[in-house]
Amino acid sequence: MTNEEIYNSIIIGSGPAGLTAAIYAARAELKPLIIAGNKPGGQLMDTTEVENFPGFPQGIMGPDLMQNMTRQAERFGGKIVQENVAAADFSQSPFSVKTDRAEYLAKSIIIATGAEAMWLNLPGEQRLRGKGVSACATCDGFFFKGKKVAVIGGGDSAMEEANFLTKFAERVTIVHRRNEFRASKIMLKRAQENPKINFAANVSVVDVVGENNVEGLKIKNNDSGEESVLDVQGVFLAIGHKPATEVFKNAGIETDEKGYIKIINHTHTNKEGVFVAGDVADARYRQAISAAGAGCMAALDAEKYLAEAESGSSN
Ligand code: NAP
Repeated sequence: MTNEEIYNSIIIGSGPAGLTAAIYAARAELKPLIIAGNKPGGQLMDTTEVENFPGFPQGIMGPDLMQNMTRQAERFGGKIVQENVAAADFSQSPFSVKTDRAEYLAKSIIIATGAEAMWLNLPGEQRLRGKGVSACATCDGFFFKGKKVAVIGGGDSAMEEANFLTKFAERVTIVHRRNEFRASKIMLKRAQENPKINFAANVSVVDVVGENNVEGLKIKNNDSGEESVLDVQGVFLAIGHKPATEVFKNAGIETDEKGYIKIINHTHTNKEGVFVAGDVADARYRQAISAAGAGCMAALDAEKYLAEAESGSSN
C-alpha cells in the first residue's frame, strides 16, 4: 500500500539519534514520520541503568529513557510506526521508503538505524545479557567495582574497554582468539603495561558460566584443547559492531568498508536530502548522548534543506 501523503521528513530508527531528530523535526512543525522498527528504542532497550545521560542525577533505566524520548517526540506531533524498512529508493524526490507493510514518501530522510554490538551467540552469554554480560564498558563498567571481569576481543575497543574497566574492576582479563592482536600498538602497549590487566590469548570462549549472575568464563586453549574457567563476575564483549545499513547501500548511500554510512558534510550523506545521525555513521563514540546530539544536528540540517528547497535556493 502506498500512502498518498508526502512527508516533509521520514526518520528511520528510534534510538536516541532518531528520537532526538524526531523531537526537533516535530517542534519545527515538520510533522515527521518515524519508522521505529519492530523492536523500537535501539540498544538502550538492552541496558539496565544509564548513569551518564545528562539530566538524570540518579540515573535512569535504558527502556524508561527511550519511553520518555518517544513520548516527547509524540507530544509535538511526530507519528511513529513500528515497522521495519525493507527497501528504499533515493534516486528522485519524493524519496520512497518501503516497510514490511507499506510504502511511504518524503522530501527528506534522516537515517538513524544504529549499530548492533556483535555477540558470540553462546547460550550463557545470551541468558546473562544485562546480568553481568555486556557489550558496553562505558555503560556498565561502574557496576563492577572491586570485581574481576573479562573482555573478549583483540582490537582497539577491547584494549580501550579493558583500560577503562580497570578504574572499577580489581582485575581485567583480555580474552582473545589469536596470539596476534589487531589493536594499534599504542593501545595494546597501554593495556600490557596496566598492572590490573592480564591476557588469555589463543583461546576460544566456550560459554559464560552461571544461571542468574556471571560466575565464570569457560575458555579452551586453541592448541591443547584444554578447558578452564576464568574466575570473573563480568564479561564484556568487544568483538565489533555491525551498522544497520544494508537496505541503504542498495539505495546508493555510500558506506565505508565496515558498512558505516559516510558523512559528507556534518550530517549530509552522498544523496542530497538524505541525512544521517548516530551509531550508523559512528564507529568511534557510540554513546547515547553523542547519538542524540547528532540527531539534533540532522533534524536542523533537514529543516534547512527543506526551507531552501521550498524557497528555490540551492543547498
Ligand atoms: P575490530 O577492530 O574489528 O576488532 C574486533 C576484535 O574482535 C578482533 O580482535 C577480532 O579477532 C575479535 N573477534 C571478532 N569476531 C570474533 C569472534 N566471533 N570470536 C572471537 N573474537 C572475535 O573492532 P573494534 O575493536 O570494535 O574496533 C572497530 C574500529 O574502531 C577499529 O577501526 C578501531 O581501530 C576503532 N576504534 C578506535 C579506538 C580509538 O582509537 N580510541 C577505540 C575503539 C575502536 P581477530 O583479530 O582474530 O579477527
